[in-house]
Amino acid sequence: MISFRMPAAVALLVLGMGAVSAQDKCFDLDSEPGWISPPAWQWDYTWQELESDVAQWSEHPLVDISVIGRSVQQRPLYLLTITASGDASSRRRVWLHARTHPIESEGSFVMREIVDELLSGSPLADSLLSRCVFQALPMLNPDGVVAGNARTNARGVDLESNWYASPSEPEVEALRAYFTRVMQETNPIEVALNLHSSYRCKRYFVYHATAGTSEAYTRLEQRFIALARARFPGGIEPYTYFVSWTAGTPSRYPESWFWLNFKEAVLALTYEDMNCETHGEYDKTARALLGAIGEYLGVLGPVTRTPSALARDHGIQLDQNFPNPFGPSSFSGAQETRIIFRNTGRKPEQVRMTVHDLLGRKMAVVWEGTAAPGTRTVAYRPRGLARGVYILKAQGERGAVTRLMNYLK
Ligand SMILES: [Zn+2]
Repeated sequence: MISFRMPAAVALLVLGMGAVSAQDKCFDLDSEPGWISPPAWQWDYTWQELESDVAQWSEHPLVDISVIGRSVQQRPLYLLTITASGDASSRRRVWLHARTHPIESEGSFVMREIVDELLSGSPLADSLLSRCVFQALPMLNPDGVVAGNARTNARGVDLESNWYASPSEPEVEALRAYFTRVMQETNPIEVALNLHSSYRCKRYFVYHATAGTSEAYTRLEQRFIALARARFPGGIEPYTYFVSWTAGTPSRYPESWFWLNFKEAVLALTYEDMNCETHGEYDKTARALLGAIGEYLGVLGPVTRTPSALARDHGIQLDQNFPNPFGPSSFSGAQETRIIFRNTGRKPEQVRMTVHDLLGRKMAVVWEGTAAPGTRTVAYRPRGLARGVYILKAQGERGAVTRLMNYLK
């Protein structure tokens, strides 16, 4: 990407024109002098490229394209809805949007790979699309991309950090109205990823600390980030890399809106790709994010191991319970959840399956007995359990494995 540098003082002035916080997420003025573009400049992955991609995607039988609103300059905000054929009303809903900040082309490249992977007919895509609905809004700020703005829309507003500003921008308004509507459906959004890219030249998630969320929420974040990292070893930073919301919930971002309204029911995270010369591997990133989403929702198994590793004895293994969340207030309304565990050894093993609260206190015994080698499924229907996130623990003779379980009473 060709870029034009300018002194930090000038960058501050330029950025200061909008309602922008220069220290937000992707942009770090302390370590970077800032970037500026000449008037005719367009960032990589232009509006024309998006239009061409949209035209191509619209040919695919599993894609539905709609326009959920218009930008300040009346450009359409395209939304792709991707799922397998058939009734999708009970499929898990996943949201993705990109390009709030025009300069962050890498977010678009990751988004394009995500869509292409979902439409590839791969085993990963098949597993995900048969049980999930993916909704992808590839360009939230088309006016900014066309104008060559770094971070703002046509009116000079940073849409990322002005989610609660009044009056609100039409791009924010469109997204919020759409979220509000689908969150009332039988299958509301459960995972929402906001794709950006950062001058830090690292791939990472913007992790929200307990001070701005909850202990239970941070465990969900940590789990999701670990799942993504397991699928891209060495490619994505641990959750400790960028910790935000350390002094409460800032009501400025789309993630704030999800947290303030829906708490642990929606895992809303910003993902930052690398905005620098060594960027790339968008396909690997896309598959890591998709795999993490699938395993987080319990629709995919853990990351595939090599056949030799599979044949090895790993003691007792525990899958994510399904459905999850479950309970009368969950979208499925399921009163019970299925728990699958495996004895990967050659001999029978004593197993005790228990439910604990987040402080580790035992709440219930789900199953106890001798597990023969192989897979076993048990159904669990809570009695007298309060709404919340719990730890499901399978204790074998040689160790214990745990999963988080979300019960919506
Ligand atoms: Zn950004």
